[in-house]
Amino acid sequence: MHIPASSLSDQHIQRKNKFRFGFVFLFIVSVGLNIFLLFFDQQNNAAVASLPQDTGIVSQISVKPSEVLEVPQPATIKPVSFTVPSGRALESEAIHSLNFKIRNSLNFTVCRMITRENGCAALSAHLGRLMVWFMDIKKSMRNGDSIDVVYQQLEGPEQFKILKLSYKSQLFGKTFEAYYFDEFDHGNGGYFDSEGKEIAQRIVEAQSPIRHYIEITSLPGDFRKGVGGHSGTDFKAKVGTPIYSGFAGKVTRANWNVRANGYCVEIDHPKLGIKTLYLHLSRVKVKRGQTIQAGQQIAESGNTGRTFAPHLHYEIQNRKNRKTIYNPFTFKHHKSYTRNIPPQHYQSFQKTVKLYSSVIKES
Ligand SMILES: [Zn+2]
Repeated sequence: MHIPASSLSDQHIQRKNKFRFGFVFLFIVSVGLNIFLLFFDQQNNAAVASLPQDTGIVSQISVKPSEVLEVPQPATIKPVSFTVPSGRALESEAIHSLNFKIRNSLNFTVCRMITRENGCAALSAHLGRLMVWFMDIKKSMRNGDSIDVVYQQLEGPEQFKILKLSYKSQLFGKTFEAYYFDEFDHGNGGYFDSEGKEIAQRIVEAQSPIRHYIEITSLPGDFRKGVGGHSGTDFKAKVGTPIYSGFAGKVTRANWNVRANGYCVEIDHPKLGIKTLYLHLSRVKVKRGQTIQAGQQIAESGNTGRTFAPHLHYEIQNRKNRKTIYNPFTFKHHKSYTRNIPPQHYQSFQKTVKLYSSVIKES
């Protein structure tokens, strides 16, 4: 089965050639580091078990392992210093910051700092979905990469909004930054780098299945969605948001397998060699056999079928082989773009950048 890579795959492949030697080197380092970590974990656990509770040595060990334990180290491996979690409230109790270094995986690391009950899995999923715009996480994340994050806890322990993410990548030798900002474009918020350029791509309005959405929460091939990866692009949006067909075509199916898909529409586009699917709708406005114009409204978004938050699942399939899925941001017939913060909002955006960065510095 062909699964398209994430939207930045082309960029990634180009880098890959340049960094082939670096890859091999980092792979060796990474293997060594894992062996070291495994060894250290055993040492650490042994130390914890053998020491009385009130010596204070346990916390020293968890901060700077290399100074406390004499672990033999190959010269090429830098010891991992695990930054102590630093949650800090800003004005309201609901805004927190964390800074940490990746160890084993994003989820593993986040769950070492905030508990499962407090939604560590959900927070790491939020971080992961933002990071897909920077890199292929599975291939490019390294032990010791450092992350600063400012986030807001919304209602319920599973609900988060990332306000700032700063990711220092050893592989790419740079720091990726994302700041949330929504004071323009009718509140259609997004993540921008410190210069005001949007991180995520958008499909041009005339071709977009949805024009107003909160964020893209999953791309095709997203393996967090299970075996084989996710087959569509998920747009988080309020129930009742208008859904359009980006291309001319004919409705081939409506409301099949409602239990899983919810209210749904499939449109055939023979000229483009594709079918498009729209799932979890609240209302379907077209019938099977109906001819559709490009840009015509076909439905309203919803939360029906197997879903736990309102969103549109938009899928582009090869019409001869439905297992071949296209990523809308690399699909040749979809034009995409990124926004820039407009000049009249730039000052306010810079203030936001400063504010979120100060949260991290103070913590
Ligand atoms: Zn989906």
